[in-house]
Amino acid sequence: MDYIDPHIHMVSRVTDDYETLAKMGCIGMSEPAFWAGFDRGSVDGFRDYFRQLTEFEPKRAGWYGVQHYSWLCINAKEAENVSLSRQVIAMIPEFLDTPGVLGIGEIGLNKNTHNESIVFLEHLDLAMKTNEQILIHTPHLEDKFQGTRMILDMLCDDKRIDRGRVLVDHVEEHTIRHVLERGFWAGMTLYPVSKCTPERAVDMVERYGPERLLVNSAGDWGPSKPTAVPDFIMAMRRRGHPESLIRRVVYENPLAFFRQSRGFQFTPPT
Ligand SMILES: [Zn+2]
Repeated sequence: MDYIDPHIHMVSRVTDDYETLAKMGCIGMSEPAFWAGFDRGSVDGFRDYFRQLTEFEPKRAGWYGVQHYSWLCINAKEAENVSLSRQVIAMIPEFLDTPGVLGIGEIGLNKNTHNESIVFLEHLDLAMKTNEQILIHTPHLEDKFQGTRMILDMLCDDKRIDRGRVLVDHVEEHTIRHVLERGFWAGMTLYPVSKCTPERAVDMVERYGPERLLVNSAGDWGPSKPTAVPDFIMAMRRRGHPESLIRRVVYENPLAFFRQSRGFQFTPPT
């Protein structure tokens, strides 16, 4: 089945992964900016990273017929350096009219600190001033519930924000309802060591329905599985769900969300 992975960090993956994903039906993907595993030292480090995301990764994906899109930001883990964060936020507009850039992300909270909130709000302001869509990272494990509530409150306090143009990722059983009820899109991240399994994701589809719901692999430099979305497709089939419902979650929903970005030019496979 053709599918789109809306959250995958391909800079951390080898070219063979693009080939494998293409063979499994992946025809499109979006890659949010994230933490490199170490804090970058300067705004120029981010500028180079954004060039990699917007120039080289689309090319590498294209070798296998996969369409690659990206989101730009400074990650919450690096937000404790507020002055560097502000330099990066001021530099991001250099890239916002590049084809394939879908918006600002993945922004959010990590340890739910004051500085993280400051940098999150300044990213929101940039997105509103430049009319960009937003992709949100919610914290992991013990910080998730509180961090998700803080993020949703900050989003809802900004009356400029169109909630239908915001995707909140890494939802789990205890946060998904809050995200969907407030009118945002929700992304379930499938992960071998933390976050959500394919079976738990199927449970959430059964409980909440497919409306504004996406599924992604996150595939990054840690233990992760870039082919997790095909695992979800198989888990849905094992439970007897129709192909139309599966296709809605893994293909039509990401397309509907991405199409709201001016940088999204998509060629359906023929
Ligand atoms: Zn991520």
